[in-house]
Amino acid sequence: MILIDGKKIAAELREELRHEVVELKAKHNKVPGLTVILIGDMAPSQIYVRNKEKSANEVGLKSEVIRYPEAVEEKTVLDKIEELNKDERVSGILVQLPLPKHIDKQKVIETILPSKDVDGFHPMNVGNLSSGYESSVPCTPLGCYLMIKKIEPNLSGKKAVMIGRSNLNGKPMAQLLLKENCTVTITHSKTKDLKAECLEADIIVAAVGIPELVKADWVKKDAIVIDVGINKTENGIVGDVAFEEVSKVAKALTPVPGGVGPMTIACLLKNTIECFKRSLK
Ligand code: NAP
Repeated sequence: MILIDGKKIAAELREELRHEVVELKAKHNKVPGLTVILIGDMAPSQIYVRNKEKSANEVGLKSEVIRYPEAVEEKTVLDKIEELNKDERVSGILVQLPLPKHIDKQKVIETILPSKDVDGFHPMNVGNLSSGYESSVPCTPLGCYLMIKKIEPNLSGKKAVMIGRSNLNGKPMAQLLLKENCTVTITHSKTKDLKAECLEADIIVAAVGIPELVKADWVKKDAIVIDVGINKTENGIVGDVAFEEVSKVAKALTPVPGGVGPMTIACLLKNTIECFKRSLK
């Protein structure tokens, strides 16, 4: 079984990006800039944002975090996004989710200029991705996709099963694999026989949020299994896949932690650089 080492692949990607930033700086005398807006003091968001900032600095991006208290007015945030939209030094804008209840998430997402939408959540980017056009792609599925391609460069004709249909994971992941000519099935909480669907799959991407849902007898021999889940349990953090037993049947499997997580942040940096390059055109 191939253990898909997300930490290692992410480190390689960051190194490539670091070189790219050096070249861009030499050629254009400026570097891509990432601005993150963080609202409130929820511990997980604070940790994610700190990691994003550290990684952005490592690859040479100009990174900035704008912090607001939990009670900040929606208008203040929207006005700041408008200001960042106009700021030439800012290539990418990310508003860390989740947001406090009084702030309309969709309004926030739609205020970010699509060309600076490093999360790929703006409807314009969602539409472009599903139409097969150039777009920002949400960071987690992009990371999953790059890991799958490392294991199997030619995905044409493979049967892929997404478990979960969120806008964040399942749907964009399905679009990426469809573009690679996979035959894609998207499953969700109302799917009748999830085990039977999974048993057909050459590739399974589990993004559900149920600890160790995917068992060994759901997985075809030699399938590639990507575990997006992050679940806190009494035994620590586990994924949506029963790692020990599935590792005995799968061809390749991501661990949790150390699989999809590190790739998500590396892909945010990649998206920022892509936004910068598109702004030069
Ligand atoms: P989400 O928005 O809650 O979506 C979960 C999806 O799973 C929904 O489509 C839901 O179906 C489906 N589902 C629920 N129970 C199911 C069942 N029994 N069988 C089949 N499908 C079922 O979650 P998300 O934001 O996509 O995140 C999923 C997991 O990934 C979470 O554990 C999250 O923490 C993790 N995550 C990890 C990263 C990372 O960087 N590694 C990034 C983002 C998220 P319905 O649509 O029918 O409700």
